Amino acid sequence: MGKLLAEDTRRHHRSLILQHLFAEGPASRADLARATGLTRVTVSDLVGGLLADGLLSELGSPAESKVGKPPTLVGLLADAAHIVALDLSPADRMTGAVVNLFGQVKARAGVVLDGATGEEAVRLAVGLAQELREAAGAPVLGVGVGTPGVVDGRGVILDAHNLHWAGVDLTGILRRKLDLPVYVANDANTAVLAEYAFGGTTAADLMLLRIGIGVGAGLVVGGALVQGHAWAAGEIGHVVVDPEGVRCACGKTGCLETILSAPHLRGSDRPLASVGTVLGGVLAPVVAALNLHEVVLAGPPDLLDGELRLALDRCVRDRVMAASSADLVVRMSPLGDDVVLVGAAVLVLSGELGVS
Ligand SMILES: [Zn+2]
Repeated sequence: MGKLLAEDTRRHHRSLILQHLFAEGPASRADLARATGLTRVTVSDLVGGLLADGLLSELGSPAESKVGKPPTLVGLLADAAHIVALDLSPADRMTGAVVNLFGQVKARAGVVLDGATGEEAVRLAVGLAQELREAAGAPVLGVGVGTPGVVDGRGVILDAHNLHWAGVDLTGILRRKLDLPVYVANDANTAVLAEYAFGGTTAADLMLLRIGIGVGAGLVVGGALVQGHAWAAGEIGHVVVDPEGVRCACGKTGCLETILSAPHLRGSDRPLASVGTVLGGVLAPVVAALNLHEVVLAGPPDLLDGELRLALDRCVRDRVMAASSADLVVRMSPLGDDVVLVGAAVLVLSGELGVS
């Protein structure tokens, strides 16, 4: 019991150090002691362990140091470990990448679905993960997966209807086949984690709206992912915006997805600005209720980053009080098509190293 607690404490302290280096970049041992509140002795001991594990390296002294013996900086090594990341959200294929500790893509692979669903689709995902593990150029820290559908806290896919998955324990299957730590989450949730960790933002309250074949959102509030009581937080694609409109795949009529998904934006003659205004009507209460700092759009820039984004921005500001909109930013994600892959890597970084 005592030993277990000591191990837990050590693991927690280790993640405090990694978290600081991950967020702030290289630091001296004294900086780390100040930032974490740990003693110099504890920090030196933990840094020694991390250097021995190959996760950190000594980076010499900062050039501007003029007085006294300059401190030696230590920093995370980007390629000390690699992560296998899968994005199962495209309509016709599964994509994957080897991602390093800084969220950089080192290798890619993909597989065409060719109509595969159910167990056949599970086999394709396992094969893709195995292929990427072989392609990794460093020890593999774990496997992260962003999947469409609702995923529970244990990584079981409760419902992903395009893949005909219901109650599929993809986490357990991948863990058994690859013998590595595995993390599976909804694609929009992984995307917002990518934005939070690697999107260059300082916001701790943000919503990322992912627009592709469907529409989904991920929410980080107070720096934590919001999952909801039934793991379905962010499912705003099926909020009805036009009861007289088009029948949706979910069975309802006139869902947001029926006007905002990429195929509908391309196929319809509805002006993009008017879609932006409808979206603003859906998001304004969310922005007001949660006092969000950023609304981030991820999807085809030719459709989103123009009239649609501007109308969305205008509409939200028109409909909430000044205190809610004063610092609001409505922008595109800089992570492009890799947003889910990078987010899948963040799941592993967070689960295995305690950083995000
Ligand atoms: Zn619907």
